[in-house]
Amino acid sequence: MENKPKKFIDFIITQKCTYKCKYCSQSKFQTKQNHHASNKTIHSFLNFIKNLEKDWEITITGGEAILHPDFFKLIENVKNLGFKLNLITNLSFDINIYTKIFKLIDTELNRYDISLHLDEIKNFNQTVEKLEIFLKLKPKTTTTVIHIPIYKINKNKEEQIDKIIKLSQKYNIKVDFQQIRYLNRHKKILQNEKKYLNNKPPFKSFSKLCYAGCNSLIIYENGDAYKCYSSRFLKSNSLGNINSKNFNLLKRMKPCTFKFCSCPKPLIYNQITEQKDYINTIKSMVINTIFLPYYVIKNKNILKNKLLQYITQNR
Ligand code: SF4
Ligand code: SF4
Repeated sequence: MENKPKKFIDFIITQKCTYKCKYCSQSKFQTKQNHHASNKTIHSFLNFIKNLEKDWEITITGGEAILHPDFFKLIENVKNLGFKLNLITNLSFDINIYTKIFKLIDTELNRYDISLHLDEIKNFNQTVEKLEIFLKLKPKTTTTVIHIPIYKINKNKEEQIDKIIKLSQKYNIKVDFQQIRYLNRHKKILQNEKKYLNNKPPFKSFSKLCYAGCNSLIIYENGDAYKCYSSRFLKSNSLGNINSKNFNLLKRMKPCTFKFCSCPKPLIYNQITEQKDYINTIKSMVINTIFLPYYVIKNKNILKNKLLQYITQNR
């Protein structure tokens, strides 16, 4: 029997980050503005979620979400509205910042995931010490997964990863190795990456009916909302902007127009069914094709940056 889909929102409250990862596909280059969500967008977001059922999972992310000047106020407001909260950090802040968050959200902090970007960490040993304090101090009910993007692996990085694995075993924490993604495509797995990334084939999603947009969505700092991370590149998959009246969730499942699902979260949260709908897939693809020239003109700088990034990483 199919598992019930879980409802979730990822709210990217800032495009700013303390790091500059070369492979960043989380937020950079996706919108023209490289700045924080405005008061208006945060207000619209809180207005939107206050009418939702409390089983929606709210993730506040970035960039690095803590950089937003109203980060603490926002997470407290989400908690006061009765939601459990998920957070993600690259662990680049002083441990006092994290202890402040633990105290403020306490048992309502459902998940606090850590992304460790080895190329960006200045002092690895200090970061491991901080990671250990983080794991000791976090609320007992908070789940933490350590995510490590697998990028240009060498001897030094292998040793660093071994240390993190040892620490994760001590605290019974899962380590998740991430395959780098450019736009919607995963980077080819190299020989020395295979031991981290089991050669699982990408999930075929084309024409499968998916709940993304009905009970899951991502909202960017400028208020633009999309069904899922893959669909953020296609205007026809937009759910509108939460600051305007054109913002709406989908009323029913839609077929996926992508060959593969590049978003890990919809899979984990059971958004995708095995049912297929070829007729509506073709209709959506025609609409996407009509919107393509508009998208290319509107986002030509973003596309240029992405192309340069892709060429740099693959030469
Ligand atoms: S830490 Fe995350 S958001 Fe920041 S640059 Fe790296 S991948 Fe991008
Ligand atoms: S199957 Fe994946 S890529 Fe396709 S619409 Fe659903 S979440 Fe997006």
